[in-house]
Amino acid sequence: MTAAVTLIGSLTAALGLALGSFLNVVVHRVPAGLSVVAPASACPRCAHPIRRRDNVPVVSWLVLRGRCRDCATPISVRYPLVEAATAVLFVLVAVRFLPGAGSTPAVLAGQLVLLAALLTAMAGSVALALIDLDTQRLPNRIVLPAYPVLLVLLTLSSALTGEWSALLRGLVGMVVLGGVYLLLALAVPRGMGLGDVKLAGVLGLVLAYLGWGPLAVGAFAAFLLGGTFGIVLLVAGRARRSTGIPFGPWMLLGAWVGAFAGGPIWGAYLRLLGLH
Ligand SMILES: [Zn+2]
Repeated sequence: MTAAVTLIGSLTAALGLALGSFLNVVVHRVPAGLSVVAPASACPRCAHPIRRRDNVPVVSWLVLRGRCRDCATPISVRYPLVEAATAVLFVLVAVRFLPGAGSTPAVLAGQLVLLAALLTAMAGSVALALIDLDTQRLPNRIVLPAYPVLLVLLTLSSALTGEWSALLRGLVGMVVLGGVYLLLALAVPRGMGLGDVKLAGVLGLVLAYLGWGPLAVGAFAAFLLGGTFGIVLLVAGRARRSTGIPFGPWMLLGAWVGAFAGGPIWGAYLRLLGLH
């Protein structure tokens, strides 16, 4: 079992590094409406194409000491940080949602498909959080394809594990969380955008698929974290009431708090109320 954990950990770390490198391209190009596959990456200053050996995640940046090999223009430290962070987040997801021992092959396969769905969601989360921070937008090009991709993966997972109730719960969560955000966007148009509404639907799908606890905690944590941060900014005098603070990163961070710890937190809350 330990060997399997080490193997899965190493594989997801490598996958996270490679995908993190691609996410840098996505974050840079998608808001500008550019293709993410062509042309190949080049130095923005001297336009020299990046050599293959200089495109190794994290390592190349360290070897080149953060400068272009051709013109010595500084390369932002954000690139290796995004790659390393994606790798760490991927390993955390893999370890948290590792299939349980003693499952039948079909159930094991279903749990691995669920893991793939969650890694896909994590990759999308990293890209969307950075794009929202950069541009205050959540591009349709990323949010909308997430619906069919995750619906197919979660349906396949339910078909393999036989847990159709999880899929049904996910669909209910999608409609409920999307609906709540739609009402908020209609009530407070300046505070919430349609991008947030579309993101809320996908997050509701994934969180409710994992359980009602993850959905409740994930939804609530977004407002708790985002609200606390907003108050801190106001008190520190760094923001005025009218300052636009993107809410997408808080929705995503809150959702992952819900995905990782929503079950236990929700259970403790219900016990506190004497309901469980
Ligand atoms: Zn250069």
